[in-house]
Amino acid sequence: MRQSKAFIPTLKESPADAEIASHRLLVRAGFLRRVAAGIYEFLPLGTRVVQRICRVVREEMNRAGAQEVILPIMQPRELWEESGRWAKYGPEMMRLKDRAERDFGLGPTHEEVITDLVRNNVSSWRELPLNLYQIGTKFRDEIRPRFGLLRGREFIMKDAYSFDRDQEGMERSYREMYEAYARVFTRCGCTWRAVEAATGLIGGDVSHEFMVPAAVGEDLIAYCGECDYAANLELAEYMRGEPPRGDGGPMERVHTPDRRTIEEVSGFLGLEPSRFVKCLMFLVEDRPTAVLVPGDREANEGKLGRVLGTDEFRLFNEEDWRRFPQYLQGFVGPVGLEVEETIADLYLRGASGLACGANEVDYHLVGVEEGRDFRPGRFADVTSAREGDACPRCGGALHVEAGIEVGQVFQLGLKYSEAMRCTYDDERGETKPMYMGCYGIGVTRLMAAVIEQHHDERGMMWPLEVAPAALHILPLDYQREGRRAAAEELYARCLERGVEVLLDDREESAGVKFADADLIGIPFRAVIGKAFDADGLIELQARATGERSRMGMEELLSHLEGLVEETGLSGE
Ligand code: ATP
Ligand code: MG
Repeated sequence: MRQSKAFIPTLKESPADAEIASHRLLVRAGFLRRVAAGIYEFLPLGTRVVQRICRVVREEMNRAGAQEVILPIMQPRELWEESGRWAKYGPEMMRLKDRAERDFGLGPTHEEVITDLVRNNVSSWRELPLNLYQIGTKFRDEIRPRFGLLRGREFIMKDAYSFDRDQEGMERSYREMYEAYARVFTRCGCTWRAVEAATGLIGGDVSHEFMVPAAVGEDLIAYCGECDYAANLELAEYMRGEPPRGDGGPMERVHTPDRRTIEEVSGFLGLEPSRFVKCLMFLVEDRPTAVLVPGDREANEGKLGRVLGTDEFRLFNEEDWRRFPQYLQGFVGPVGLEVEETIADLYLRGASGLACGANEVDYHLVGVEEGRDFRPGRFADVTSAREGDACPRCGGALHVEAGIEVGQVFQLGLKYSEAMRCTYDDERGETKPMYMGCYGIGVTRLMAAVIEQHHDERGMMWPLEVAPAALHILPLDYQREGRRAAAEELYARCLERGVEVLLDDREESAGVKFADADLIGIPFRAVIGKAFDADGLIELQARATGERSRMGMEELLSHLEGLVEETGLSGE
């Protein structure tokens, strides 16, 4: 590609809506443009990166025995009714009608379509296992599209679906996909961690997410420093210490004027925050529910959702407090609280010497005992693990970090095959449902995640395997005859060898060329400047490490060829 002709509209300024590095840099470097919230155009360099990532994904899927198909984006309502997800998916699914007023959804995921395909065309045990995948556009009308490619409303996903005869087969397919994922993320240059995950709207029992650790990640992960336990914080268990114990004395009512927060009251009473019972009021399917957690812990909404068996709940908002005036905001406590359901965190079972709101303005209770003074309807794990908590497996210290979910694998079991009657006949002619798995990689999210892990203040630093080109040729002062001829020769010879290359043939200053090259982040750069005039040497620079070495053209070409062979970075 010649830069003078290439469509690479770089920008001096970061776009105002770009909060994170990948978004900022992709737009500034001319890889990406926004069309509407969460909807983007990929310009030539951006498209190139998407293709490179897809190439890695395809190779690994094919290697694992999956076969590529192309499935429709637009899907009839009837299929989604069969799985029950037409209603369940809610407003996140984009919907439309055709001219005959028939309902369609734009696929946020493709379990229904693929299950339909397989049930209509596969019937014998001999045809199983089967693993089909596609790479295509998905639509999800996210509540909060943001962070550029990390959370779009239209994005590219690779989704694969496996069909097996039995549980064992499904587990084998799952393992193969898991391993293929590990190779994909490693080849894309990411450090990553696989964590146990919740299954959400997709369903199934066993699931792992592949997380790329990054400060901007929207997920939190807990992992053990000593064993291999790792889980999404929505799921991560931890061992609780002994509950607090009081002296067995009676409960007392204390005047706590103008003190509402746990910190204020605990300071005033001289009690550790962990001795407080925080009584959180949630509206669950329109009913008030009290959730009790120790004062120094946060309720975890993912865990709570599973305990409640619904995702239709929220913390009381201002309107809820007004609607239920029997609950006094800032002074709610479990003692004498009139509420249909109370759920308490496991830590509070058998706890005593506790403090809590007195359900009376400006009063708190101390010396409170669980079991004596209040009795929750249920105990459950509803709080988040945090740094230093004890690992549920080995007792080692847990660490908590932020990560970007770039992929997720699920053992679906019979969820879709039973609902949609996707069956096969076994060796004895008995009809059985197929065991399914499904496996997603967010291709465009992965592109952003790669940058989150590989950039500096000057720009992006693409790992070779997913870079838009391997080499950026920078002839300084392009019009100087010798330099220009050398640049052209190098360019032509790279193309001959299938090395992807960008030639900066613009008549720009060295400063502009370097700044743009830093921004675009092609892994290697061949600078043709003074050393070339004097000794015929070209300087090869690595964008990520800043390493430089001078060499003649022949040496440079063979050096590049070696690198490119390693990563297969040659034209498609
Ligand atoms: P999230 O929890 O981040 O909303 P998800 O768990 O709903 O994602 P999956 O259904 O597991 O997503 O989809 C498979 C993969 O698709 C995800 O691991 C992620 O990499 C990608 N993905 C999901 N939603 C988006 C989105 N809105 N924008 C970009 N990529 C996405
Ligand atoms: Mg997911």
